[in-house]
Amino acid sequence: MKNISILGSTGSIGTQTLDIVSKNNDLKVVALAAYGSIELLEKQIREFKPELVCVYDERKAKELCQNISDLSIKVVSGMDGLMEVASIDSADIVVTAIVGMIGIRPTMAAIKAGKDIALANKETLVTAGHIIIPAAKEYNVKILPVDSEHSAIFQCLNGENQREVDKILLTASGGPFRGKTKDELKNVTVEAALKHPNWAMGRKITIDSATMVNKGLEVIEAKWLFGVDFSQIQVVVQPQSLIHSMIQFKDGAVMAQLGTPDMRLPIQYAIYYPERRYLDGQRVDFSKIGQITFEDPDMENFKGLKYAYEAGKCGGSMPTVFNAANERAVAMFLDRKIKFLDIYEIIEESIKNVKLVKEPSIEEILDVEKATYEFIESRWS
Ligand code: MN
Repeated sequence: MKNISILGSTGSIGTQTLDIVSKNNDLKVVALAAYGSIELLEKQIREFKPELVCVYDERKAKELCQNISDLSIKVVSGMDGLMEVASIDSADIVVTAIVGMIGIRPTMAAIKAGKDIALANKETLVTAGHIIIPAAKEYNVKILPVDSEHSAIFQCLNGENQREVDKILLTASGGPFRGKTKDELKNVTVEAALKHPNWAMGRKITIDSATMVNKGLEVIEAKWLFGVDFSQIQVVVQPQSLIHSMIQFKDGAVMAQLGTPDMRLPIQYAIYYPERRYLDGQRVDFSKIGQITFEDPDMENFKGLKYAYEAGKCGGSMPTVFNAANERAVAMFLDRKIKFLDIYEIIEESIKNVKLVKEPSIEEILDVEKATYEFIESRWS
């Protein structure tokens, strides 16, 4: 029996993780955390019977307490509550599926408690990779990637020597606006940006795919997960999303992982690693695919990727500024307060203006996040 704790159980990755749990009788959910979707969380509690739940929003936590007063389940809230769910004694593995930098402290708590991490919260590695990766080594825990690209790379590395990797070929769909010119991008709507051609995902990551910021975050994530230089990571646009990423080895051999776009595969692979289990769903039908095509990414019109490489190479707190500026800009775009291309401007100006910290501690990372928000507040409100 494997005991699982899920941070972000009501989101896209969280619900798909629970789908896997419900189909495998050797998995048990011991703790769940959500931001504030207490109706769905209550359904999950009644079905999966965890010992502990956290509702980040304190008011919603109280409401949930009343709604489940017939059950004897401990309900906690806030950051302390999230950390409790992340480090609960009975868990073997923690699925970190919350969105944003809010995941840093719970992820650290889970590592210190000796839990393996199925990592879907890319912002944590992007901003605190220099702390998380050494900590995982120190506490002897595995960081198992759930992001489809990183899972693909991880799968391609199975049985290989990481030192023989020459290049990581990180694939990208190009998002819903692939091929559009800057003029065409000026007035794109929130609705259009939320229509991803291949993947069904949460709102924030879907916008990040449209701006290519998501791929940028993934480049930085790959650097930390696989210990490579930025010069060894090449983004390849593969619009059909069939190849989930590739590795080129020293001898020129290229390994790729393919599959239909289904996030349950990387989630399940992380949970059962190194074992593979049956997973229902569609299979790749090569007689129907016709073609798999490739392009270079358009870094001039979709500057998300360009800024990510710049921030990543600069290092220190710069990836935090990049990420925090994007988080705020995407929220503003979803609220229809800014236009699509303003997201890039907000990121660029934040990178230029927020002060760099060289080897930031977690405290300093959170301070830089705050400083970035304050800078944006002062300019765009
Ligand atoms: Mn991805």
